Amino acid sequence: MDPFDSNNSERASLPRNMIENSMFEEEPDIVDLAKDSTAYPTFPTLDPDEVVYEPRSSRLLVRGLGENDVDDDEEDCESSARLLGMSFMNRSSAQRSNSSPYARQTAPRSCSPPSARTTVVCVLFLVIVASMTMVLYFLPGCTFTKKGCPKPDNKTSNGTDGELFPWAQFQLPRSISPLSYDLTLSPDFDNMAFTGHAVINMSVLHNTKRIVLHSANLNITKATFKLGDGDASEVAILEYKPRQQIAVKFSEDLKAGQNCVLTLDYTADLSHAYNGFYNSSYTDEVGHKRVLAATQFEPLYARMAFPCFDEPSFKATFKVKINRKPEYMALSNMPKVKTTSLANGLMQDEFAKTKVKMSTYLVAFIVGNFTPTSKNVSDILVSVYSVPEKKNHTDYALDTASKLLEFYNDFFDIKYPLQKLDLVGIPDFLAGAMENWGLITFRETTLLVGTKSSPLEKQVVASVIAHELAHQWFGNLVTMSWWSDLWLNEGFATYMQYMSLQTVLPQLDIGNLFLAMRFRAMDKDALNSSHAVSTEVNTAEQVEEMFDSVSYEKGASILLMLNASLPGDQQFRKGIIQYLKQFSGLNTDTDDLWNSLTEVEVPNQHPNVSEMMRSWTYQKGFPLVTVSRKGDQVTLTQEHFLLKSDNTSHSSSMWTVPVTYVNDSCSLSPECAQLFTLSTKSGTLKVPESVKWLKLNYRNTGFYIVDYGDEGWGALRDALSNNFEVLTQEDRASLIHNIFSLSKLGRVSFRQVLSLLNYMPNETETTPVREALLQLNNVYHLLHKRYEQGLVTRMKLYILNHFGALMENQTWTKEESVSKQELRSALLETACYLGEEKCMQQAKKQFKKYVDSNGTTQIPGDLQRVVFSVAAQSVDDWGTLLTMYQYATYDSEKEKMLQGLASTQDTPSIIWLLSAGLKGNIIPTQELPLVISTVCRSFAGNLFAWDFIQENWNQLIEKFPVGSFAIQRIIKSATSQFSTQSHLNQVQSFLSSLKERGSQLRSVQEALETIRLNQRWMERNLPSFHKWLRSRDFSQDR
Ligand SMILES: [Zn+2]
Repeated sequence: MDPFDSNNSERASLPRNMIENSMFEEEPDIVDLAKDSTAYPTFPTLDPDEVVYEPRSSRLLVRGLGENDVDDDEEDCESSARLLGMSFMNRSSAQRSNSSPYARQTAPRSCSPPSARTTVVCVLFLVIVASMTMVLYFLPGCTFTKKGCPKPDNKTSNGTDGELFPWAQFQLPRSISPLSYDLTLSPDFDNMAFTGHAVINMSVLHNTKRIVLHSANLNITKATFKLGDGDASEVAILEYKPRQQIAVKFSEDLKAGQNCVLTLDYTADLSHAYNGFYNSSYTDEVGHKRVLAATQFEPLYARMAFPCFDEPSFKATFKVKINRKPEYMALSNMPKVKTTSLANGLMQDEFAKTKVKMSTYLVAFIVGNFTPTSKNVSDILVSVYSVPEKKNHTDYALDTASKLLEFYNDFFDIKYPLQKLDLVGIPDFLAGAMENWGLITFRETTLLVGTKSSPLEKQVVASVIAHELAHQWFGNLVTMSWWSDLWLNEGFATYMQYMSLQTVLPQLDIGNLFLAMRFRAMDKDALNSSHAVSTEVNTAEQVEEMFDSVSYEKGASILLMLNASLPGDQQFRKGIIQYLKQFSGLNTDTDDLWNSLTEVEVPNQHPNVSEMMRSWTYQKGFPLVTVSRKGDQVTLTQEHFLLKSDNTSHSSSMWTVPVTYVNDSCSLSPECAQLFTLSTKSGTLKVPESVKWLKLNYRNTGFYIVDYGDEGWGALRDALSNNFEVLTQEDRASLIHNIFSLSKLGRVSFRQVLSLLNYMPNETETTPVREALLQLNNVYHLLHKRYEQGLVTRMKLYILNHFGALMENQTWTKEESVSKQELRSALLETACYLGEEKCMQQAKKQFKKYVDSNGTTQIPGDLQRVVFSVAAQSVDDWGTLLTMYQYATYDSEKEKMLQGLASTQDTPSIIWLLSAGLKGNIIPTQELPLVISTVCRSFAGNLFAWDFIQENWNQLIEKFPVGSFAIQRIIKSATSQFSTQSHLNQVQSFLSSLKERGSQLRSVQEALETIRLNQRWMERNLPSFHKWLRSRDFSQDR
C-alpha cells in the first residue's frame, strides 16, 4: 500500500516463539477452560477483579482465561483458597493440552513453608472446595440463573449472547488451513448492501474440534459444513465480535490430513468508510451522481467482504463471481472468463481462478463504470481504467506501467505471473494506492495525468506505479508471514520505486525525493516512541500503525545502505533474485531475506550481511557517529542518536555501521568513497596528515548522523564558504540535516547551525536548499505558534536575506526540469508564505490571468499551490477558488486548489472547510487529512484544527481506523508545532481521555514526545536566540 506521505517497542522474543510454536502444537482449549470458570460464581474466595460473573460472556472468558493477562505479581501465596482455584485451573488445563505454550503455567512463587496446622487446615479446605467444584463442574452454568437452562436449538449462536467462543488469541489457530475460496458477491446499489456466498475448502493440519476464521459486520444467514466425502450439514456459527472472529465447534476431532468445506451465506452493508467492500460516489461531468463499489482489504478488511482466514500467511486460491446490473462492469484480480444472464435480470461475471496462491488482503473487486486503455506488454495485458470522462488522462500511466513491468520482469528474473495487470483510478480512495494482485487501485491523483501536466505531477504518478508494481513481487509473490515484518513488503517496494525510476525514467530526478525522504525517516526514528523495523504486533491498532515511515522509509533506507556498501553492483540484485525464487508463493520473515543476501555475498570483503542487518532491523533508532581526529588518527565512536525529552538513561544499542568517507583531496566521485565498518563502540582509521577535512556518509546513503566536533565542523564550514561545490549536493544537504539534528540533541548551538548556513546565498542546488528551507521553516513555525512576534520577524528577514537572491531568480513560466521545479516551488512557497512582496504580486497576477481566461490559461503545475495559496488570502478570491474547485475535474489541479483554500487565515472559512471535509459532499473525506495538515500551518488554523479534532474524534475514527496513517497524519499535523507547557497539558489530557479510542497509539506518544522536545529546544535556545537576533543585523550576516 502506498500512503501519502512510548511503548518500548524493542523486539520481544516471546510473540515470535508463540507464532512459530503455534504452527506445530495444538492450541489451548478455551472451551474447557470456560467450563472451569462456570464453577467460579459460587466460589466464595476468588478475587472479584479476577473473574467477572455476569454475564457469562465470551468477553469474560477471553479476558479471564485465554490470555496471559493475569500478572504473576497479583498472585498471593498466602491465599490458600485462591491458590486452590488457580491450581485447579492449571491442573485441568494441563490435562487437556500438555504441550500448549499458551496455557497459563503459574508456578507458585517461593513461600515460606507452612506450619503443620496450616497444612491440615489447608488440606481440609482443599478437599471440601474441590468436592464442591467437582459438583459445579458437571452442572451447566445456567443451573443457578433465574432463567434456568435454555432448550437447545439449532440457531446460529452469538458468542456475546452467552455461548463460549473457543478461541482467545488475536491470531487464528494454525490447525486449519484454507485451500481455496469460491466467492459470489451481489452488490445492491439501491440499498447500499450486498449478499455473499462463500465456499471455503480447507485442510486439517492438526486434530482439532473447531474452525476459527475472521468475519466483520457480516450477517451470516446460513452455514453448512462437509467433511471429506460426507454429506453437508447445517452448523451453528459462534461469533466473537471484539476480535472479528467466527467459529464452528465440533464434538469430535477433525483429523489431521482430512479436507473439509465450509459454505456460508451472508448479507452486509457496503462499507461507508474506506475499507472492506465500500461504496463510493462521484459527480460526473454533467452533474449526475455516479455510484460504484470498490475494495480495500489491507490490512484487516477482507473479513468485511467475505468470511476468511484473514492473515497474510493463510494463502489460498480464489475464484470470484460478481452479480451486477447490466449498466455496470466488474473487475477482479483475474481476467473475466464469462458473463451469464441471471433470472433476476442481473448479469454474472465469472473471473478465472487465481493461478497462484495469495493472501486475503490482496483480493479485490470493483463494480462501477470504468473505461480502459490497454496495451500488450510481454504477453501481459496492461490496462489503465478511469471513469469514462477521464479516459484521456490515462496514457502516461499506461506507458509508465508498461516500461516498469518490463524492467521488473528483467530485474527480478521472474516474469509477472498473471495474464493481466489492471491499474484503476478510484474517485474516492483513501490511501495513495493498493497493490491488489493484478488489480491495483489508485487515487485518481496518483494515476491520472493530463497532457498539460507538469513533470512534477508525472513524478508522483510514476513513483506510485513503480511502488505498486514492485509489490507484485515483493508482497504478492513473496509475502511477510505476519504484520510485524511489514517492512519486507513496504520497505522493499519503497526502495524499488526509487531504484527502478532512476533507471527507467532518469529525467524524473527521483534521487532528490529519496534523499529528503531518508532525512524525514531519521527525524521520526530519533524519537523514543519509534520502533524496530521488525517489531511485535498483537492488536488491530498495532497492525494499522505498522504502516508508518519506519516500515516504508527506514526500510528502504537500510536497503539502500546495504546495496551501497556491497561490493559490485550485482551482489544485491543476485541476493534479491535468490530470495524471490526460493520463497516464491510462500511467506517469509526478516531473517529469510538476510540469509538469502548473505549466501551470495563475496566472502572476506564485507561484514556478514545477516549480522550487520540484524542490528538495523531488530532495534529501533540509528547511530550517531562522532569523529575525533589527532593527526593521522581518526577515532569514530557510535552511540544511539536518541532525542530525549526527559532524563531517561541512554540506550546501549550498537549497530554494524558501514561508514563511508571522503576528504578534500577526493570528494565527488563514487571512487573517492572509502569504507570503514564500525561494529564496536569505537574504531580508528588512518588518514594522511595533510587531509584538511573529512565528510562521512558519502552522499548520505547510510542511515546515521555524524558529529564532526567543533574542529571538524569548522573545517567543513570553511570548505563550503570557499567553494561549496567541493562536496556533492547530497553531501551538502546531509551536512545541513545533520547539524540541525545535532542542535535538537543539544550537541551544537543554534549559532553553529546558522554559521554553517552562511554559504547558502551561493547555493543553487535543489536538495540543500530544500533541506535548509524546511529546517528553517520548522523553527519559524515553532516561533510563530508561540507568538514570539519579534523573533518571527527577525527569522523572516534572515530567510529572505539568505535565499532572497535565489528566490528572485525563479521564473513563473513553464519549466521542464523536475529538479528546477522542486527548487522553485520550495523557494516561492516560502517567499510568498513570508509575505515577500514580489512573490505575492506575481502570484496574484497569475491567478487573475487564470480566472480571467476561465481556467484556460495554464498555471505551471509546480506553481499552482503557491498561486492558489496567495489567492486564498483574499476573501473574494477564496470564494472564486471554491467555485472553481467544485467544477474542476483535473485532479492534480483540484488538490492544489484545496491546499490553497485550506491555507486561508479567515476563521469562518477554516471552520467551513473542516466540517465540509468531515461531511464529505463538497470536499471528499479522503482529503480531510490534507485539509487539516494545511490548515495547521497558520496560527489560527492550528488552534481551530486542534479543537475540531477533539470535538469530532469519534467521527474521525469512524472514517479512518484508529492507528491508520490518516489518523497518524491528523495527530501529527495538529500537535507537532506546539512547544508550551499549556499546549502539552491540553494535548495530554485529551489524548489520554481517548482510552481504547486511541490513547495507546504510538502516534499519540510521538505527539507528546515531540511537544516536550520542542519545549526543551525552546528553553535551551530561546534566551541566546533572543540575544543573538537582537545583537546582529541579519542583512550583514552573509
Ligand atoms: Zn506499498
